[in-house]
Amino acid sequence: NKFIFVTGGVMSGLGKGITAASTGRLLKNAGFDVTAVKIDPYLNVDAGTMNPYQHGEVYVLKDGGEVDLDLGNYERFLDEDMTFDHNVTTGKTYKHVIEKERAGDYLGKTVQIIPHVTDDIKRRVREAAEGTDVCIVEVGGTVGDIEGMPYLEALRQFAHEEDEEDFLLTHVTLVPYSKNGEQKTKPTQHSVKELRSIGLQPDVLVGRCSERLDPETKKKIALFCDVPTDAVFSNPDVEDIYHVPLVVEEEGLDAYVMDRLNLDAKALPEAKR
Ligand code: ADP
Repeated sequence: NKFIFVTGGVMSGLGKGITAASTGRLLKNAGFDVTAVKIDPYLNVDAGTMNPYQHGEVYVLKDGGEVDLDLGNYERFLDEDMTFDHNVTTGKTYKHVIEKERAGDYLGKTVQIIPHVTDDIKRRVREAAEGTDVCIVEVGGTVGDIEGMPYLEALRQFAHEEDEEDFLLTHVTLVPYSKNGEQKTKPTQHSVKELRSIGLQPDVLVGRCSERLDPETKKKIALFCDVPTDAVFSNPDVEDIYHVPLVVEEEGLDAYVMDRLNLDAKALPEAKR
């Protein structure tokens, strides 16, 4: 399996989910079997009890799973059915770990976030990915949130456990305009610094901006965030979110990701291309 983790910096509601789903769509277009996992760091076991005014509608899956509406994006963009297991929440993970503790499964050990909770997170991601070529894993929330810490630690471990060509980290950030019309890279620099402080180096950066990023902006982001310039992509505002896959394809995001993960579309059986 190949894993593409997607984190978000600066603020929520940036378009991390749409970027992740678009990446998945492009890889599916290339002929790969793609699935997605949405991680929601809240303590609710599922979204079923959440107020839709606060959280948006509850999305109900075919197997009855009540999940975050992002799973709906994945189903629509990927044209694949998701199951309840494709939504990992802190509530689910802790409940399982605590139930195992009560059943005596840890044999007298002290049960801890590292390794017991992080192991359970990694297990869930790997199980959801089984039988596919690529699994897109979106980490909900923003880098730096307390709730997200166990997931980012699990991600750090994951990166070591997988071969380099099987793991890619995409970080989606905001590139705002200043009053004098300049694209500002500081928020991106700060959020990448935050990632690096917990041992994570992004492979790909996607800048959400009202316009496409200028070549100079990309160069600056690359320099300050220690990625190649061709690993920096724009995701500008579009009128219809279903155009996002086309925009990021034009930017070359899919080609870069396939190259980096050694995903060779030509090597697929004829029927899949
Ligand atoms: P996040 O996962 O970062 O919270 P989402 O992917 O759910 O963000 O997107 C937040 C909102 O922004 C959604 O309403 C989505 O339709 C919109 N959006 C995402 N990307 C774009 C884009 N490129 N242009 C315009 N709107 C976008």
